[in-house]
Amino acid sequence: MRKTLLITGASAGIGAATALKAAQAGYDLALNYHSNKAGAEAVAVQARAAGARVILCPGDVADPDAIAGIYTQVDEEFGRLDALVNNAGVVDLIARVTDFTHDRLRRMFDINVIGAILVAKEAVLRMQAQGGGGVIVNVSSIAAKLGAANSFVDYAASKGAIDTFTKGLSDEVAPQGIRVNAVRPGIIETDIHAKSGAPERVGEIGPTAPMRRSGHADEVADAILYLLSDQASFITGTLLDVTGGR
Ligand code: NAP
Repeated sequence: MRKTLLITGASAGIGAATALKAAQAGYDLALNYHSNKAGAEAVAVQARAAGARVILCPGDVADPDAIAGIYTQVDEEFGRLDALVNNAGVVDLIARVTDFTHDRLRRMFDINVIGAILVAKEAVLRMQAQGGGGVIVNVSSIAAKLGAANSFVDYAASKGAIDTFTKGLSDEVAPQGIRVNAVRPGIIETDIHAKSGAPERVGEIGPTAPMRRSGHADEVADAILYLLSDQASFITGTLLDVTGGR
């Protein structure tokens, strides 16, 4: 039987690359996006061409009602959930901590932390009810370790929360055969940098990694697909850095 996978933030970047590789690997897909409907539809067309059954589940993961709507679609269309890639995330304009506003911090933590935790909660409830285990991969960032001083300390802190959540949740659900891991990408060539008003970051910071380059969304997707797979059957609570050595 084909496995069902929900990917949040699947309209672009790492989420889109993961969707295409997952379709090729035999998953049926629930693809969440927030604003980029055209991007999500383009991913869906390619995933269907690779043989996947695909549903689009629009919704802002910062909104609990929207998360309920996403899962209503998953329940009605697939009736089960085997895997989750908790990928939706945002940065913000480059700023120092002394410039942060309450609104900025609320948005960052509502999307990157509270949204991700609530999305994972709903996945775990379904996996527990089904029996037979399940897999969750959270998309953190190496910023959680590095701190991102003078650019996005708030983003780094939000991903630090995801690292801790990954370990704690993995311990809670391991007895039910549910594995929970995270990938921590370094500088990856996606639109997230332009969205933070700094498209030049990839060219500037990428070459400072030990491997002297930035990464591609496909390279992160490969790590995610590995953690989803049975090849990672004894791996849980782990943070896998995909950074070119950073
Ligand atoms: P991206 O190209 O900007 O894609 C972000 C995705 O998240 C989009 O599909 C976007 O959907 C979705 N999204 C944003 N806010 C959302 C919300 N409130 N509700 C639902 N979906 C939302 O960025 P990316 O680089 O692929 O980033 C994916 C993940 O990797 C993020 O968690 C990011 O923090 C992490 N990461 C990226 C890098 C990097 O260098 N690129 C490094 C470390 C970690 P819409 O466009 O439809 O709104």
